Amino acid sequence: MICPRCRKTTYVIDSRDIDCDAIRRRRECSACSYRFTTYERIEPIKLTVVKKDGTKQPYQREKIIHGILRAVEKSKVDRHQVEQLTDAIEQDLLACDIHEISTQKIGSIVLRYLCKVDDVACLRFSSVYKEFTTLKSFEKEMSKLQGKKQGVR
Ligand SMILES: [Zn+2]
Repeated sequence: MICPRCRKTTYVIDSRDIDCDAIRRRRECSACSYRFTTYERIEPIKLTVVKKDGTKQPYQREKIIHGILRAVEKSKVDRHQVEQLTDAIEQDLLACDIHEISTQKIGSIVLRYLCKVDDVACLRFSSVYKEFTTLKSFEKEMSKLQGKKQGVR
């Protein structure tokens, strides 16, 4: 960052977290010694989510976290891992560089990550987002999974 007075380079003399997602930095100019403060903040994702019924709402990280938390209930996946998964998912969403996304598309991205982490959470989540047409197809997937597990033992 350059000095607002003389346009020369500045250096950071102090950094501290002021809350969970912002950092306050004190800077000093290397030429004129002018001191000023900057705030560094994570830019929120500007994305509109289109629901199945066509209604739109702004992207909310909490919704993804809640969806994952519900799926990983009673599993080994902890809150920290859920945050990491959500970070990775958000990176994907940002990389897409789009302004609108359907809930189904988000669901499929979440599912892809969740399935790498935990089999049961993967199934639970897909039962919500892919919506198995019948209970039978869900049971079929479950038994396939259990078969896979027994094969491992
Ligand atoms: Zn200066």
